[in-house]
Amino acid sequence: MKFTDLGLDQRILDGIDSMGYETATPVQQQVMLPILQGKDIIASAQTGTGKTAAFLLPLLHRLLTTQHAQNDINAMVIVPTRELAIQISESLEGLSYFTDVSSIAVYGGGSGDSFITEKKALTSGVDIVVCTPGRMIAHLNMGYVKLKGLRYLVLDEADRMLDMGFNDDIMKIISFLPKERQNLLFSATMPAKMRDLARKILQDPVEINIAISKPPEQIIQKAFIVYEPQKIPIIKDMLASPQYQNIIVFCSSKQQVKQLTAELKRARIQAGEIHSDLEQTVREQVLQDFRNRKLRVLVATDILSRGIDIEDIDLVINFDVPHDGEDYVHRIGRTARAASTGTAFTLVSEQEQYKLAGIERLLGQPVPKGTVPESFGPVPNYNPGDGKKKKYGGKSRPRNNQPRHK
Ligand code: AMP
Repeated sequence: MKFTDLGLDQRILDGIDSMGYETATPVQQQVMLPILQGKDIIASAQTGTGKTAAFLLPLLHRLLTTQHAQNDINAMVIVPTRELAIQISESLEGLSYFTDVSSIAVYGGGSGDSFITEKKALTSGVDIVVCTPGRMIAHLNMGYVKLKGLRYLVLDEADRMLDMGFNDDIMKIISFLPKERQNLLFSATMPAKMRDLARKILQDPVEINIAISKPPEQIIQKAFIVYEPQKIPIIKDMLASPQYQNIIVFCSSKQQVKQLTAELKRARIQAGEIHSDLEQTVREQVLQDFRNRKLRVLVATDILSRGIDIEDIDLVINFDVPHDGEDYVHRIGRTARAASTGTAFTLVSEQEQYKLAGIERLLGQPVPKGTVPESFGPVPNYNPGDGKKKKYGGKSRPRNNQPRHK
């Protein structure tokens, strides 16, 4: 699904573009429409699935296209930790960059200055507040927080908040909010106590379950942190190893599949290609040749990452980092089928590091990093915070704990 299919405001589409998102992730596909329709939601989705944008995008659209209070808080996002508050604020700044929507992150542990800044924003009104429960209550107890116009409440990582003992704090915050509002609850797991909380807060919610896939444990995964121009020489080196006999290389675009296959053929590597520009009969023939071992290497787009069962693949190489964690799990799951072992290598350029970080969050653990032989020259450090900032072309961005005013 493309974001343009949802009829989102152009300023939001520009923000999506600047973040480098092309297609909606599974959670985004299921969650955005009901939110746009004004429904309450209970969604089981882990961090790493794109759930932040799944609620921020429709929220931004509704703020931009419906009447709302000008000098009040319109939406509150409650999260368990300051790290998550900061992370969500950063996503919000990116996605709302071309709009006049204002936001502030409110979390504990900062300086006295940040409390004063928060107080100012909460008193004069700010469109979206992303907060941790304790800090929000500290402000609410002082009586100046402008909540009359609040129409949207998001509880993110709600199971973690309950585990951390925030149940009473959440209920206390809610007691300050207007009754007429849209409620969105996101949680990685749905224990019984979550159902109780949902019953108290949500009205006739749409329930969404995103099955979380995990790669089989017998797959040896390695990510190689490289500069983009190093990818072709490195992949040729990987393919030269006699250790691997049946190899699939995934690329995100058909253009890249075509270029890489041509490059490999020039290097006398037996490679075939599969992508949607090819006739079905041609695709089937290529697959047949691969199954019959006439081809050692198959270069493909994600059309081959799901459903197709080819046995005895001993190596999967991601020539680029897939867009979301689900695609990663599907791609590398082409190897080590039927309990055999397999290897999955991922080549990660500087601009793709943040995508790998998202995948690692989904998997709940880092992908082990492989060592690039010195003969390929120096490689970058793994520092996933950097990639996203580059997309703004050096434009200065507001700091996440400062309010962005209209
Ligand atoms: P989240 O689950 O919200 O923490 O998101 C995980 C990562 O996926 C973040 O780095 C997001 O910027 C990124 N992301 C979210 N939506 C998309 C999308 N549609 N396409 C590509 N990346 C995305």
